[in-house]
Amino acid sequence: MVHGPTAGSPVTPMASAAPKDLPSVDRLLRDHAVTHLMARHGHAFVAAEARRLLEEWRQLALSGALPPQRLHELPSELERRCAGRLAPRMRRVINLTGTVLHTNLGRALLADEALQQVLACMGSPNNLEFDLARGERGDRDSLVEDLLREITGAEAATVVNNNAAAVLLSLAALAGGKEAVLSRGELVEIGGAFRMPDVMSAAGARLVEVGTTNRTHARDYQAAIGPDTALLMKVHTSNYAIQGFTASVSEAELAPIAHAAGLPLLTDLGSGSLVDLSQWGLPAEPLPQRMLADGCDVVTFSGDKLLGGPQAGLIVGRKDLVQKIRKFPMKRALRMSKLPMAALEATLRLYLQPDRLTTDLPTLRLLTRPVEQIEAQGERLIEKVTAAVAPRFAVRAAAMRGQIGSGSLPVETLPSAGLVLTPVLPGKRGVGRALDELVTALRGLPLPVIARVQADELWLDLRCLDEGREEPEFIAQLPQLREALA
Ligand SMILES: *Cc1c(COP(=O)(O)O)cnc(C)c1O
Repeated sequence: MVHGPTAGSPVTPMASAAPKDLPSVDRLLRDHAVTHLMARHGHAFVAAEARRLLEEWRQLALSGALPPQRLHELPSELERRCAGRLAPRMRRVINLTGTVLHTNLGRALLADEALQQVLACMGSPNNLEFDLARGERGDRDSLVEDLLREITGAEAATVVNNNAAAVLLSLAALAGGKEAVLSRGELVEIGGAFRMPDVMSAAGARLVEVGTTNRTHARDYQAAIGPDTALLMKVHTSNYAIQGFTASVSEAELAPIAHAAGLPLLTDLGSGSLVDLSQWGLPAEPLPQRMLADGCDVVTFSGDKLLGGPQAGLIVGRKDLVQKIRKFPMKRALRMSKLPMAALEATLRLYLQPDRLTTDLPTLRLLTRPVEQIEAQGERLIEKVTAAVAPRFAVRAAAMRGQIGSGSLPVETLPSAGLVLTPVLPGKRGVGRALDELVTALRGLPLPVIARVQADELWLDLRCLDEGREEPEFIAQLPQLREALA
């Protein structure tokens, strides 16, 4: 135990301890309540934390703001700080936003098999670039290329860090120093720094814009083709929709135009689902296999959007073009690491067993959850949530509209269900503050809950609340929510 003020010093209950009352770092570390910290974390870490803590308390003492009785709390305070310093900054959260592929919340959740594969291969040497059959150096692409060829029907495939990298690399390798033709209706910006004109210039390609924002015709592309043209490009307008008086040229129509001029057609699909979502009543997203069949020569798409895998950029298409992309020096800087590679391979393997997708691939499991199941979950939860937030908030079950997210199908919503929490107040005053407090309390839970504020209410969309694991965890921390709101 650390000793308090020395006997005889004139301590009144309201007085502050003096700096000389604080123990030395060494003495604090010798305290028996601190030895277990030293055993667990080592001397260097605990001593550094102890030094920092003692310095802070010395400053408090100097300003006369350190109650003497707090000196006894030094060991427990040190333990708290050690734990705080070592707590992971990346944490699990519960996603009740209703957006399944939430970019800010990590997008696609990995399937168990992908997690197992990461776990199995990352702690030991593996054959990332080693051909086990021949006993010689291999290519990491070969771990997934056959799977991608089989699933998409492509001649060849390569993978990079993400789809932004896939687009950048494809443009640099195929159109560097030359012109790439793209419709003005497809000059997409995706979350922040990915803007098609900027990506073009970063890749060293000259963007040739054709058509108008709302209408682009085949003749616009034809007129733009010249001696410097390297390729025609299509970008899937994944996060917006142009409606009304519109016209665009589909890949199927554009491919013959490109090929007649001896040019390749490059398509950035953005999300790109490997299975037809309409079989589950979901809005259809373009399939890479469909794009290839329609005549696209190179198609790029993301690994962690509708595909439901790790962050990755997939490039599939004509063998000579994929080879050119693979050999381009920038590829080395954008290559995929072994961690997502393990997860991607396992995820793609699930696609060989399509009947398992809606049960074993979390993204498709969540997207295809029947609304009745979500409503039943709301009924199970409503009384418990009410008990936690009453009397300050009223709770009602409600139908809601969620989203797929990550720029997939922006104008389509998913029918969903959940709970709506409304501040109980005599008037409109204080509604914003009450909601802020509620949102903060939910975020401050040990397993933070992220919800949606909409029209002066808090919406808990339950589509993404996993029944097996997260629902009990959510319920278990409702008492803490109650305390936080008290
Ligand atoms: C999401 C998206 C990208 C970027 O993909 P990341 O995998 O996030 O890098 C590029 N283009 C389109 C059309 C997209 O929707």
